[in-house]
Parts: sequence; C-alpha cells; structure tokens
Amino acid sequence: MLRKLIGLVFICSVFIFSGCTTIYNPATGNRETLFINTQTEVNLGKDMAKQISSDMKLLNDPVRQKRLDEIGKRIAAISDRTDLIYSFNIVKDKEFNAFAIPGGTVYVNDGLLDAASDDELAAVLGHEVGHIAARHSVKRLQAVLGYQLISSIALGLTGQGQVLQAVDVVFNVVTLGYSRKDEYLADKLGVKYSKAAGFNPQGMVTFFQKLKAEGKNTSLQLVFLSSHPPIDERIKQVEKEIAALN
Ligand SMILES: [Zn+2]
Repeated sequence: MLRKLIGLVFICSVFIFSGCTTIYNPATGNRETLFINTQTEVNLGKDMAKQISSDMKLLNDPVRQKRLDEIGKRIAAISDRTDLIYSFNIVKDKEFNAFAIPGGTVYVNDGLLDAASDDELAAVLGHEVGHIAARHSVKRLQAVLGYQLISSIALGLTGQGQVLQAVDVVFNVVTLGYSRKDEYLADKLGVKYSKAAGFNPQGMVTFFQKLKAEGKNTSLQLVFLSSHPPIDERIKQVEKEIAALN
C-alpha cells in the first residue's frame, strides 16, 4: 500500500531533468554520472516523507527529538554532502532499525534510539547520512529507471507501470538494505563522520554487539541484521576502519 501510494505521488512530483552531469563524490572517492539532480532528489524525498508520515507512526517527543537532532546535526555538518537540509524523525517501533530516504531525511525507530548510547547513535546516523552522501538510493533509482525513462518522466511521456516498479525498488532498498558493498561503505562513513563530529567511533562496534545480542534475545525481526552483511564481518571491517583513522 505504502509503495503504491509513493508511486502515485512520485509521478505527480516535479521531476526536474537537466541532463547528465559528472561530479567527483568525496563520499565514494569516485567520479559519478548523475542524471537525477539534487532538486529532483529533494522533491522525491518530500513525497516519500509525506507518505511515510501517514503510513508509519512518528513520535512527537520533544526530549528524544532534541537528542536526535543534536547528534544528527553534528554528523550532517561534517558529512561529505552539505547541499541538503537534513532532518531526523522518530518512528514508533521497537525493532532496532533506521533508514534514510533520498534528499536528507533520516528515520530512527524509538527502540534503537532508546537502546543506543550517544556514540552508538552517532555511528548509526553516520551510517545513514553516509548512504545519502554516497547517493546510494539515487544511483539505484538511476540504474532501475535508466536515462531514457527519466527523461521521458520529466517530459511527461511515460506511463505509471514502469515508474511504480522503480519506486518499489527504491522503497525496498531504503527500508530493507542496500548491497553489501554499499553497506560496508556506509559503515566506513559512519566511523569517519562520528569521529569527525567528536564522538567515539567505537560506538559502531558496541552498537553491532548490542544488535547481535538483541537478535538472540528477542523474537523481533531485525531488518538491520538480517538483510545486511554478516554482523561479525561488519565488526571486523569497522575495527579496521577505526584503526586506520587512529
Ligand atoms: Zn545501511
């Protein structure tokens, strides 16, 4: 249902097309060809956020929100991508999960928020901001839609079917996880950003340990765990990244 609705609003959103541009992306260290520009990404994110706020229960809790905003803003300020306005939302859900949608909006479940220390939360937010900085969802959308289809959407020449299919892919990706390669890069950026923002990057390791324990002790379905690379492998990689930073 959510995906269908997102698909519909997506078609109605302003798809601004300005051809191909090639940029150097400091988050990935690569030159990347983009044909979904920042403005289109922001528009898409706004439409997705609207649907999420009507389909998921968001918490309006000033105390928790203040903590989330303070840590999130410190991470966003030193990230590799500062052309976006980041915002952070709390989802009422006990599962340990967080996700980011295109355009700079990040969602954190209250279960994760309450269980994580500040250093751990900084690492998780660094991971999510890392996905945004690396433009993982945008590149996935580009790959699925292709240059031709994106230009026809912009010109109003396309039908709903293909677009719905593409939006399905993006929605699954942001909520269920990216490729292993993308997850490892987001972990690496999470370590880098949390340290640069003045947090202890070891928070990523202790968070993974909590996640692992949570997975053993609960019947909660842990998306962050099941769809991502094996947790012990991630801990190993993160420890390497922390050692490389020191
Ligand atoms: Zn991720």
